[in-house]
Amino acid sequence: MKKKALALALAACMAASLAACSGSSSETTAAATDAETTAAETSAEETTAGEETEAEETTAEAAETEAAGGTLVMATNAEFEPWEYHDGDAIVGIDVEIAQAIGEKLGMDVEIEDMAFDSIIPAVTSGKADFGAAGMTVTEDRLQSVDFTDTYADASQVIIVKEGSDITGSADLVGKKIGVQLGTTGDLLSTDLVGDENVERYNKGFEAVQALLQDKIDAVVIDSAPAKAFVSQSEGLVILDEALSQEEYAIAVKKGNTELLDKINAALAELKEDGTIDEIINKYIPAE
Ligand code: GLN
Repeated sequence: MKKKALALALAACMAASLAACSGSSSETTAAATDAETTAAETSAEETTAGEETEAEETTAEAAETEAAGGTLVMATNAEFEPWEYHDGDAIVGIDVEIAQAIGEKLGMDVEIEDMAFDSIIPAVTSGKADFGAAGMTVTEDRLQSVDFTDTYADASQVIIVKEGSDITGSADLVGKKIGVQLGTTGDLLSTDLVGDENVERYNKGFEAVQALLQDKIDAVVIDSAPAKAFVSQSEGLVILDEALSQEEYAIAVKKGNTELLDKINAALAELKEDGTIDEIINKYIPAE
C-alpha cells in the first residue's frame, strides 16, 4: 500500500477505534494509545457483527470495524463502460462493484486510482496500487509482469464501423486504418492484422470512436461490451458480427503477492458461488 493509502487506512483505523489494525505502521501504534478506551467497545461490536444477529443495526458498525483491515488501492482506467466509467464525479461499473464486494469480504476499503490503461500494470508492479481491475484480459505477455487472479468474465474483441462501410469482417481490414485504445489486446490484435503503421492508438476508446465518426480511421477494435456502449451513444455506428478473439478478464496483482492473490481468489469464489458476480454483471449488461 502506498503512503496515501496508509494514511487512509490509519484514518479508517482511528474511526473504527482500532479494532484490528494489522500490518500498519508505528504511526498507527501511537494512535492506538489514544483510542485504548474505546477498544473494548469495538470488540463488543465485532462480536455482535460476527454473530450476524442484529443485521440492520450492526451494518454500519460492522462496516466501520471491517474498514480497520486497511485499504486496497485499485488501479483502473475509467473510460471503459460498463466495466469502469465516470458517472458525474463517481467512478462506477462492474469492476468497481466487484472490487467493492471483494473488499467487503476481506474487511478492507477499496480506493480507486484512475489512470491510463497502460499505466495499470506498472502501478501494480511498483506497488503504487495493490491490484489492477480494468476489464483486463489475461495474456501470456502480462503474466510475465503480474499474477492474475481467477477469471471472472468472458469477453471478445469486436470491430466497430460506420453504417454502410465496405468493411464486413476482419479480412476487409487489411490496408485500412484501425483505431484502438493504447496498450490493449485490441491494439495488439490490430497490429498483427494490419501492421503497426495502420493502427492509430488513443488513450481512450471514446477518442477512437470519435475519430471513426470523423472519418479519420476506418474501424475501431475494442472489447464487446464497451463497443455496445459506444455504439448506443452515437448515431451511425455498427458492430460487425465477427468476434476477433475470445478473452477472459481477471484482476492483476503484484507478482509473488500470493497472500493477496489467494485472498482475492477466495473472495471471488464466494462471490461467484452466491451469484453476486452474475448479479453485478447483469445489472450493467442485461442478458439479451
Ligand atoms: N480487455 C482489453 C485488455 O485487457 C481492454 C481493457 C481496457 O481497455 N480497459 O487489453
